[in-house]
Amino acid sequence: MQGDKKDCGKKEPKKRIRLSESLRSVRFTVWIYFAIFIVSILILMWITFIATFETNFRMRKNSDIEKVSNAIVSALESGSLTKRTISTLGHDYDMCIVLQDRYGLNLYSYDIMSDNCLIHGGSEQELSEYRRQARESKDHVYMTEAGNSFSVNTLLYVRALGRTETVAYLMINTSLEPLDSTEQLLREQMMQLSIFILILGFGISVFLSRLLSTPITRITRSAEKLAQGDFNVEFNGNGYTETEKLADTLNYASCEITKIDTMRRDLMANISHDLRTPLTMVKAYAEMIRDLSGDNPEKRNEHLEIIIEESDRLAALVNDIMDLTKLESGASALNLENILLSERISQIMNRYAVISERDGYSFYVSVPDDIRINVDPIKFDQVIYNLVNNAVNYSGDSREIYVCAIVSGENVEISVTDTGDGIPEDQLGVIFDRYYRAEKHKRDKIGTGLGLSIVKQILIMHGFDFGVRSEEKVGSTFWFRTKMLRS
Ligand code: ADP
Repeated sequence: MQGDKKDCGKKEPKKRIRLSESLRSVRFTVWIYFAIFIVSILILMWITFIATFETNFRMRKNSDIEKVSNAIVSALESGSLTKRTISTLGHDYDMCIVLQDRYGLNLYSYDIMSDNCLIHGGSEQELSEYRRQARESKDHVYMTEAGNSFSVNTLLYVRALGRTETVAYLMINTSLEPLDSTEQLLREQMMQLSIFILILGFGISVFLSRLLSTPITRITRSAEKLAQGDFNVEFNGNGYTETEKLADTLNYASCEITKIDTMRRDLMANISHDLRTPLTMVKAYAEMIRDLSGDNPEKRNEHLEIIIEESDRLAALVNDIMDLTKLESGASALNLENILLSERISQIMNRYAVISERDGYSFYVSVPDDIRINVDPIKFDQVIYNLVNNAVNYSGDSREIYVCAIVSGENVEISVTDTGDGIPEDQLGVIFDRYYRAEKHKRDKIGTGLGLSIVKQILIMHGFDFGVRSEEKVGSTFWFRTKMLRS
């Protein structure tokens, strides 16, 4: 049988990484996304700054004027307004402040803008126009006007004071000129900050991409070693849950590969040993017939008998190897059939009549009549044959073998019991392993060490529970359990 050959050559890891591959690497991808993220943030920051700075600045100025105006009015109402209050406010908020009586005469005045101030530098006509507008608005007006030196924009606030009629006017003028210088300053600071964020961001992205890709690179390096046949390689995914899981899986895989490799070597050693022994015997006895016993019919027959026995052993071994290989490779499919258990088992047991008569073995079969199960009949026979053969081989002097089927609930447990030497407890776990043979049975001619592995594979294929109960000097029971079919 020719198994599917895997073409590993096509996927042999390449030593040199091309540019296009570098561009698809985790390291580069993380780096580029992080870089894009930082640049986008900076662009957004700049757009927001440019778009909103002027409006925000103007709103801030308005609210400052409002604050100053309210402070002056409440001081005025409480009678605590002094020239000092006005100059402090004017100084703190960078504003020209003038409080006039209803006729336009200055009561208090603070000038910080000298020539640029619209109030101090304005004509009486202009001032009375401002007052009129405030009066008509019933409270206050805002005006944005060019300052007296024309190059500077200023914000003028005029408020008419008094409940029913105007008793005084509060005029506040503040320059919008700092807008440009402040903006310039802010721009410079933001530029410095942007450069700093850019450098830091790129640094972090390089570091981060390295950090993320390092465990993957490390695992890849180990995988390359594994691919080259170094099964002792250790995968280390230290760092992240995902890479640790990957490393664990690869460690598990490499451990399984190691086991399979060891099993393959053992198997080859065992097979060659087992094939060599009967072949040596066949050759030796054939030579004996040629050289010595050829003319002596009695001796010759004895020697020929040995040759036939050894040939049978060889054939059995080769058959077992073929069966197991087929079962393990999954090439052997199940052909399930609904069988009558008692009928099938008695057919098998009939074949042991010769052994029973010739060698004095007693077979006790106890299977209820009406049980039907769903199995592959040929493989089922193989299981029963292997178990009964083992029972015959290892039943010792008692030579009693029991084949039973016991119903429990919906299941039926089928068992083969012998009253032989039993199996030591420490060997129960390995008894089903391929090529395992107990120390004391190793020199026996019977058996290949593959029978129970074949049984195990067939039962696993069927999905049956199975096992062995054994006690030294009492005997062993090999059992498996399956569902009964409703008739
Ligand atoms: P073999 O061809 O050697 O019988 P098996 O796989 O069938 O190979 O069995 C593996 C080993 O398990 C045997 O060599 C024997 O040591 C042990 N064994 C199997 N069946 C029994 C049994 N009924 N009683 C005692 N030992 C057993």
